[in-house]
Amino acid sequence: MATHHPPPRPADGAPISFLGRLRRHVGVVPDRAISARTARVRPRIAGAAVTASICPYCAVGCSQLVYHRDGKVIDIEGNYASPINQGTLCPKGAATYQLVDNPNRLLTVRYRAPHSDHWEEKPLDWAMARIATLVKETRDRTWEATDADGHVVNRTRAIAHLGGATLDNEENYLIKKLFAGLGMVWIENQARI
Ligand code: SF4
Repeated sequence: MATHHPPPRPADGAPISFLGRLRRHVGVVPDRAISARTARVRPRIAGAAVTASICPYCAVGCSQLVYHRDGKVIDIEGNYASPINQGTLCPKGAATYQLVDNPNRLLTVRYRAPHSDHWEEKPLDWAMARIATLVKETRDRTWEATDADGHVVNRTRAIAHLGGATLDNEENYLIKKLFAGLGMVWIENQARI
């Protein structure tokens, strides 16, 4: 059988008002539950211009909102208006801002000579000439016009390409086009699809 408890009464014995009872049950909610400092704080994208763009990485083609101020990108997030990603981004796409602005990014060529234990800084022209020379020499030396059964293959299996996570769609297109044209067959990339 249910037990009925009479409503609590204040110390002087007077009945508790309806509002007093409500306060005891649901608590008191102030109309401004924020500090003055919090009220002054603004998000870093407040007042920034925004441009809709496309994630540079893979063929899913997620849309991004690029926030910028005074010619500088300040944030990149998923575009909620896109029917493809509806505001979401995968971890790689969500880190796109670090591709634009990253103090850890190397801006000069680093070269480690065979058997060396340290990296050297080299001019870009030096690196481009060395890569071109070694690709030409290796391709000429290892070229296979036909396979063991006499089929025409026109390839070299002595050069491979392993792409990095920050390669974008355009770079991958050019890499595939160049290296396939050179007769390379081992071309790989870290990509979604
Ligand atoms: S890398 Fe991720 S965020 Fe970018 S397009 Fe592909 S799935 Fe979308």
